[in-house]
Amino acid sequence: MYTPPASVVHIYPILSYGSSIWGQNTGLQALKIRFKDYYDLSKSSLSALFKQMVGKEIIFEKVSTQNSKNQVTIKVPDIGDKISLLSRQGNSPVTVEIENHMPDTWAAFEKVHSSFCKFVLGVSKFSSNYAVLGELGRVPIEHKITVSHILYWLRLEKEIHGSLLKNAFNECKGSNHDFYASISFTLSYLGLPNLLRNPVAVKESHLKSSISLRLKDQYLQSFRQKLGSYEILKICKGENTYECSQYLSTIKNVKLRNIFTRLRINNNKLQAYLHKEEVNCEKCGVLENTEHFLFHCKRECLVKERERFLSQIKGLLPTYINKSSDAKIDFLLNIKTKDADLVKVICHHINTIYGLRFFNKT
Ligand SMILES: [Zn+2]
Repeated sequence: MYTPPASVVHIYPILSYGSSIWGQNTGLQALKIRFKDYYDLSKSSLSALFKQMVGKEIIFEKVSTQNSKNQVTIKVPDIGDKISLLSRQGNSPVTVEIENHMPDTWAAFEKVHSSFCKFVLGVSKFSSNYAVLGELGRVPIEHKITVSHILYWLRLEKEIHGSLLKNAFNECKGSNHDFYASISFTLSYLGLPNLLRNPVAVKESHLKSSISLRLKDQYLQSFRQKLGSYEILKICKGENTYECSQYLSTIKNVKLRNIFTRLRINNNKLQAYLHKEEVNCEKCGVLENTEHFLFHCKRECLVKERERFLSQIKGLLPTYINKSSDAKIDFLLNIKTKDADLVKVICHHINTIYGLRFFNKT
């Protein structure tokens, strides 16, 4: 273990500057504290309070207040267990709740990413992140961050000796601190720990593509597991296709397209997807899922619209009537044709039948 002499000034933290991903100082602990009543949240009064609770002077590295006037996050040397114990025993002079606070740095990036994807598709914020990214053929944004992180490491390994960055990197590597520790963890996680041994021989372009591919492979495994509960998306996406769904570019009108997305990713008003206790169709008494709604529901207005659609499509696609339910779903909700008339007829039908069911009860 590398232990620098006390007089040495550390320069490795410059590698962590500006990055909350690998910049967390592992020697400190973040605590979230909620006060039951109003409390002065200044450093000096918190310091006095903690001196009473822990029995010694505590130096706060960082104090930040949240929106609430009674809540604060502090970074302190690792004394969390002792503080929690004391506060549970009621030794605290004021009533406080203390919990370890580990901010999930990835989640903040992914939240922005998935919110944007949901906005583009016009679906609710409660829709599944997996399904939404799947529709657009996208992978989590953390993949890009991880690739940049590792390419930066490679650059530092190849950097000429003598530069400030190289010195910081060598110091970080020697003590296996923050930045370097997270690199070795990531490469081991990706099954590429050998790269650490001879990084100079590694080609940047090769590294970039192999990491992206491994991350994507790992992600697709969990995507396929999640897809199990999305019967329509499963039919439409197929087993080996993870790319932007074709219907998104075929149907140009965003308003018309929106109902297709909602039906594919279970983000609609059908009983089966509302997470209510009652999931059956009020009219027919069976599960009201997308298949029931599109082909079997006995509501008069839906039956009439289906008949109208069938007579219209007979001329354009005579084989439609003989298709299985899965093939019909694939045909209706996964438009692959470039035939403008056919696209128009299907869009009109899907939007009309959904509108009749939810906005025009007769
Ligand atoms: Zn029904």
